Amino acid sequence: MRKWEENIRKVVPYVPGEQPNKERMIKLNTNENPYPPAPGVSEALKNMDPARLRLYPDPTVGKLVSAIADFYQVNKDQVFVGVGSDDVLAMIFMTFFNSKKPILFPDITYSFYDVWADMLRIPYERIPLNENFQICVEDYKRENGGVILPNPNAPTGELLPLDEIEAIIQANQDVIVVIDEAYIDFGGESALSLIDKYDNLIVVQTFSKSRSMAGSRIGYAISNPVLIKYLNDVKYSFNSYTMDSVTIELGCKAIEDKEYFEMTRNKIIETREWTKKELKDLGFAFGDSMSNFIFATHPKVEAKQLFEDLKKADIYVRYFKSPERISNYLRISIGTQEEMETFVAFLKEYLSKM
Ligand code: PMP
Repeated sequence: MRKWEENIRKVVPYVPGEQPNKERMIKLNTNENPYPPAPGVSEALKNMDPARLRLYPDPTVGKLVSAIADFYQVNKDQVFVGVGSDDVLAMIFMTFFNSKKPILFPDITYSFYDVWADMLRIPYERIPLNENFQICVEDYKRENGGVILPNPNAPTGELLPLDEIEAIIQANQDVIVVIDEAYIDFGGESALSLIDKYDNLIVVQTFSKSRSMAGSRIGYAISNPVLIKYLNDVKYSFNSYTMDSVTIELGCKAIEDKEYFEMTRNKIIETREWTKKELKDLGFAFGDSMSNFIFATHPKVEAKQLFEDLKKADIYVRYFKSPERISNYLRISIGTQEEMETFVAFLKEYLSKM
């Protein structure tokens, strides 16, 4: 071993879902939105002047911060914007989780949390979900250095009612509590209504799912001005020009179109409920997902095998081989109604041969 190896920060990186580039495929593996972004986004893209790329973007992302603040009826100093909610969450870990006590998150959850914690040397404790893959509020009433929870949780899709989220915040007044609401628009009640009541609460959301903008990388945190200022201080100490000027412009167009947002969101919810019914009839078991994916298992089918057989038919879903408890489940993102009909037809045929 070379001497310099001792000083390398060694990390086990997060593994994102596959991004195959096939003309004809059904892509249900990364919880993207199957519908294109709002029409104003393509219009803005067409009219963009490349000459503006000569200049640095606005480091405060002012225009997009204002558009998000307007949408949620909060002040501009309550909004922090990042390059996807992954960037926002990484900044949050760096800014707020500096205690020697462990931060808490569920054992089955977004698999980036332990990666950031390991990378930043933050101690953590994984709190087991119950046998129905649900978060139990009582488990979060212990000493800790911070709490982070997705609501709905991923990859389970399970939603915690707002009063239970509030009970967790209430029990953890001495630390920062982060609610990662990447999937909240698909049927949950947001904790945004609690930000004026609790000065230790940060709510994180994204344009990647309900706003069809995963490729643009836009995420945001909403909290009180004090916590947002701490977050910006760290961001400006790391990289001041995080979001590019094209994305800022497109993001504004995406959030302005409330009608399109509601229309596509409602279509996904409708298709999700249709898919649940079909999967149930086929013998799959799953919780009552309130997200844009379903986390399902089948008593007669090995998940890994089904995952591979689906892939051969150019249908991509997500399979996690660990932890053991979820190794016989597939996470199926909700596509268009037509895509889900093709998916269900494949399953019907597949199961009929068993
Ligand atoms: N949080 C959760 C729970 C997620 O599933 C994802 C998507 N991988 C993210 C955050 C990050 O999404 P993005 O960076 O695209 O905003």
